[in-house]
Order: sequence, then structure tokens, then C-alpha cells
Amino acid sequence: MSRATIRWIAGPVLRATASGPFAMREAVRVGDQALLGEVVRIDGDEIVAQVYEDTTGLKPGALVVGDLEPLAIPLGPGLLGHIFDGLLRPLAGADALYVEPGTRSLSSETFTFVPRIERGATVRGGAILGELIAASGVAQKCLVPPDAEGEIVSIVDRGEYTQDAVLATLRTASGGERTVAMTQRWPVRRPRPVAARLPSTEPLVTGQRILDSMFPVARGGKAAIPGGFGTGKTVLLEALAKGCNADVIVYLGCGERGNEMAGVLDEFPKLDDPRTGRPLMERTVIIANTSNMPVAAREASIYSAVTVAEYFRDQGLHVALMADSTSRWAEALREVSGRFGELPGEGGYPAYLSSRLADFYERAALVEPLCGGVGSVTIIGAISPPSGDFSEPVTSHTKRYTKAFWALDVKRAQARFYPAIHPLQSYAEDAREFAPWWAAHGNDRWLASRWRFLTLLEDEARLERMARIIGKDALPVRQQLTLFCAGLVNDAFLRQSAFSANDRVCAPGRQAAMMRLLEKFFDLAEKAVAAGVAPADITQLACVRPVQRAGEDIADNQLARFDELHKRLDVEFAALTDKLGQVDASRR
Ligand code: ADP
Ligand code: MG
Repeated sequence: MSRATIRWIAGPVLRATASGPFAMREAVRVGDQALLGEVVRIDGDEIVAQVYEDTTGLKPGALVVGDLEPLAIPLGPGLLGHIFDGLLRPLAGADALYVEPGTRSLSSETFTFVPRIERGATVRGGAILGELIAASGVAQKCLVPPDAEGEIVSIVDRGEYTQDAVLATLRTASGGERTVAMTQRWPVRRPRPVAARLPSTEPLVTGQRILDSMFPVARGGKAAIPGGFGTGKTVLLEALAKGCNADVIVYLGCGERGNEMAGVLDEFPKLDDPRTGRPLMERTVIIANTSNMPVAAREASIYSAVTVAEYFRDQGLHVALMADSTSRWAEALREVSGRFGELPGEGGYPAYLSSRLADFYERAALVEPLCGGVGSVTIIGAISPPSGDFSEPVTSHTKRYTKAFWALDVKRAQARFYPAIHPLQSYAEDAREFAPWWAAHGNDRWLASRWRFLTLLEDEARLERMARIIGKDALPVRQQLTLFCAGLVNDAFLRQSAFSANDRVCAPGRQAAMMRLLEKFFDLAEKAVAAGVAPADITQLACVRPVQRAGEDIADNQLARFDELHKRLDVEFAALTDKLGQVDASRR
């Protein structure tokens, strides 16, 4: 074990004179409290390390001891249902956003191990050793670590074990022995290996219309949510955590203030899972690194979070990782870099900001795990650009690595139009890929409908500019109708309250039904206007209100009510054109 003596220390950064070899990125223990740190630079016999815990009281002369392994976190079944700091040390609930310095503990929770393989079998990384069943009944897989292989020389019997228990021993090809414990360590900055990365043509279903129907993100894809303060990033991430169709949720609160995090910490343990009726926490891992916690740990926390996500992906599960917010992470990177005395680049961020963001987002993927089957990690990162300026470095670099961009708009948020995602500033680069999926889920016209909605919204923006100059009433009737229809796209489709019982989550079938209903309305309205009906008469139709309110009023399991609305549209539009015919006849 190598040792070094601190020569200089400032906040989370120290320089120490080494008396033995250290490796780049090696984890270290610092001072009497054995604070966790990481070697970030080696200059001859001097090492530079960042420390992930509060260094108050640490002085030159204190000892730094090498860990012989890179910064790693414990991965095991006890992750689900719990709250951790950025280095995966357990936090004790909402009030105790605090960990004893030097802690490395796992909870004392026990799991029932059910072996699925026998002594004498030869296994490779990812092979299934057995199942781990929690007291709640939730079962997880126990896998041979990705980098291990050999013959099983011993495996424990079915029974209850603590998380640090050794469950099997392998004899490796070189004749050595390697133990496999229930909890395994993995270095946070190294992506976990997979059998194959797969192309993804299936969206992560979020239950949010503006996302699934307009700007979908792939399972295994990556999305960015940029938005100024108070535009709804946190509410949206929480809505996704509650409503998306992932098997496991990893929620990372990164550098947000303790009281904002407290909302998540307070609320999540009380939520029920709409899919199973059981507590949502049973399939959730929360990682909290609030603004009052050591800044270097925040830098590591996004890699810890994605490593946890990969751990579940490797069991053949679909995982969604929500990070709130990557801007606070980038600020930590900037602060630590400043302490190193590195030359600041754009916006004061170090030049490697972009490659570090890439390291994070590129770990999102749909994969064939080593154990077979399919698993995925989808990453959704919030960005809080200073003064809502999307040209700043974190937003612009993130755009290079994310395919879906969900831009939150201050004006929409101020108008309390939620989710405040701006349809003209947002995009989904691989939307076309999802047309077959939508066709299999009730909407074989999805691409065309989506295009029509987006075109209406584009036209609306253009016509509103024109209307400001010449007045709304001076617009030709067709254009007045366009404005009205675009209004319906906004109010009857894109708007969706996170606090409405029916509309909090909208299943794909209902999204498709709502799209079809609106298109029907647009078709009938266009025909009516072509036949001479005044747009003002269309806006007065009694059916407009129920169309606008369909999202709130009609639940996912009441799709037949859309058929009634279709009939109602037919009747009311027919009456309009009939009236027109009578007026014409009376004129003759
Ligand atoms: P940010 O994280 O971007 O600073 P928040 O997510 O905390 O913003 O949202 C600020 C406030 O806006 C919330 O407290 C809530 O009142 C309102 N809000 C945001 N999104 C929604 C939504 N989808 N439905 C209803 N209200 C919302
Ligand atoms: Mg927030």
C-alpha cells in the first residue's frame, strides 16, 4: 500500500509527497478519519487528489494511503428502496442528509439466496448464480461479476444472508481462487461490459403526451431537459420517475438545495407504484448529493448513478436514470478544476467538460447483457442554464450527446402551461424510428399526425407575428382557423397536469385516441370552412369544450368515450353546414 504526506490542502483538493507508487484515479484514504479521495494527477513524486468528504481540520503532514483500486462503489440487492450519497453510502432519510466521515457501510438488511447453479459448473462473467429475494418479496439476480470466470468450487445453500456474505468461490483458469459476494464493487468511471449494444426502435413510454407523441426518447436513449429556474424540471423528472415504463428508477439529486431534494426524499417513500400497487421505492434508488455536501463527491455522483443503473441493466432490466441537475454537476467540476489551478475554458469550465459529459451520456444504451436477454439504461438529464440561456456551454455540449431535447420555456411556465416544454424549441432526432412501434400501439398514422400538429404550431408562431401587425380579424378565414386548431393542439393535447388524477399519466392508447379525435376535428373544421362556415361559428360549437377537456375527463380505460365524441363532432359539424345550406336557400 502506497503512502503520501499532505504538503498543501485547499478545500477538496490536496497535494501530497508520495513515498511509493500511486496509480492515476486510484482511491485513497486521507487523514485519521480515512476520508475517501481519488488521485487525479501525478507529477513525479507528488500526487494531487480530490477528497469526497469534508476536509475541515485536515492539515499538512496528515497521511494519504492508497486503496490499490480505482474509486469504486458497492453494488448489491440492498440498493433498491434506499437513499445514498454520491459515493453510495446510505443516508438516513429526509432529515439526515449526512454521512459520518469515512463511512463505507452497507445496510444490515438480509436477503434470501436461492442458488440456481451447482458446484462443478464452469461460469463466465454475467452467469446467474442465483436469486436474491428481499423481505418485500422483490427478487433480483445474483450474477458472476463481469470480470470473473472459472469453475464453481463452492456455493452456499439456500438461506438468508447479509449483503457482505460470500456466496460462491470460483477456481480461475490460472488455478487461483476468487470469491463472489452478494455485494460486488465496481469502479464508477468504467462502463460495465455487455454482450452487445443494440439499436433501439422502441420509445421509453413516459405517459407524457408531449414526450411520447411529439418528442419520444428511445429505451436506452438520452434526453436533456434544459430550463431556467422554476420552469418545471424537477416536477417533470418526478413525473417521469413515477410514470415511465422502466423496471428500475435511479433518481440522482445532484447539487440541488437540500430543501428541494427534501421534496423527493419526503414524497417518494410514500408513493405507490401504479403498476403493482406496492411502494414505488421498492424499485427505486435515490442518490442525493445536495449543495451543502462536499463538492468533489458531486462530481463523482453522476458516475455512481450510471454505474448503479448499469448494475440493474445487467440483470436484464430496463432502467431510467433521472439526473437533477447536470448544471450543478458541471459547477462542481468547475470548482474542483479551479482548485487544481487548471486553465479555465468557456464559461470558466475546464476544457474537458464536454468529454466528461460524453463519458456520462454514452453509458446510456439498449443492450444484450452478459446474462442474456435485453436491458437498458435511459438517461434523462436536467440542465439549469444561468438566466435560461441555451447557448451556454453545458447545454450546448449536452446537445451533442443527447437525441431528445425537451426545452422548458419560461413564458409557458409563467402562463402555468405545464409541462412547459416548448414544441418549437424541442426535438427528437430519431422520431421516425418509432413509427412501427406506434403502429403496433394503436396509431398507424403517428408520423403524419405528429407532423400535422407540429406544422400547426409552426404556422401559429408565424401567424401570431403577423396578427400583431395587422390584427387577428384581418387574417384570412383559413388562417384564423389555423390559429384556433393550433390552440387546440396546445390546450387539448400538449397541456397535461402532473397533479390530475386521470391525466398525470396518459397511456399510449389514449394518446393515440386523443390525436385521432383532434385530427377528426381539424378535418371537419377545414371542410366546413371550405364550404363557407365562419371560423367563429366553429369555435362556438358545444363539442369544443369536451374535446379540450378530454385529457382530464377521459381515463385510460374509457377509450369508448372517444367514439361518442367522434359521433358528436359529426352531428355538430353536420348541423353547421346544414344551417349554411338553409341560409343559402333562403337567399335564393
Ligand atoms: P425547476 O426544477 O425547473 O426549478 P420545478 O419543477 O420545481 O422547477 O417547478 C416549479 C413549480 O412549477 C412547481 O412547484 C409547480 O407548482 C409548477 N409546475 C411545474 N411543472 C408542473 C406540472 N407539470 N404541472 C403542474 N405544475 C407544475
Ligand atoms: Mg428543480
